Amino acid sequence: MSSIDLRRLGLRPGEVRSELIEVELEPFLLGGQRYEAHPETVPVGVEITQASGATVFDLRLHARLTGPCMRCLGYAGVEVDATAREFYDPSAPPADVLRSDYVVDDRLEVGAWARDAIGLSLPEQILCRPECAGLCAVCGKDLNAEPHEHTERNPDPRWAALEELRGRL
Ligand SMILES: [Zn+2]
Ligand SMILES: [Zn+2]
Repeated sequence: MSSIDLRRLGLRPGEVRSELIEVELEPFLLGGQRYEAHPETVPVGVEITQASGATVFDLRLHARLTGPCMRCLGYAGVEVDATAREFYDPSAPPADVLRSDYVVDDRLEVGAWARDAIGLSLPEQILCRPECAGLCAVCGKDLNAEPHEHTERNPDPRWAALEELRGRL
């Protein structure tokens, strides 16, 4: 996992530092489907601001994920622009908002943070295009390629024969 050694930075109050960390992204699993980052490794910008007590971390990244459209299973790609902010004050009590979970042993775990930030920035549905018609619930055909509807009438010819018989009675 990619991380920043905060002790190495040795920031004094009022100082700001910008770091660029390469993070390798494992595929994301969403709704039973697999989405891969292209490229797999994304540059993650982290700005570190040392306040008098807490350290402020600002994350910024851009990633592209590709995988199956959630409606038609065709190819879908999604561009993700994520920003996030965390705080770290070593004197804050555990589980406090000023005590970021991404700081472990004086290291900022940029890899885990970037992954979570992408997860939070993803749209609810990943689609090949916003107006994707999806697959037909009756026959399973792609409604984008073959727009159609099924009528209420039962297509079974045996029923048609019965209907005809009934009409004659
Ligand atoms: Zn689609
Ligand atoms: Zn159909």
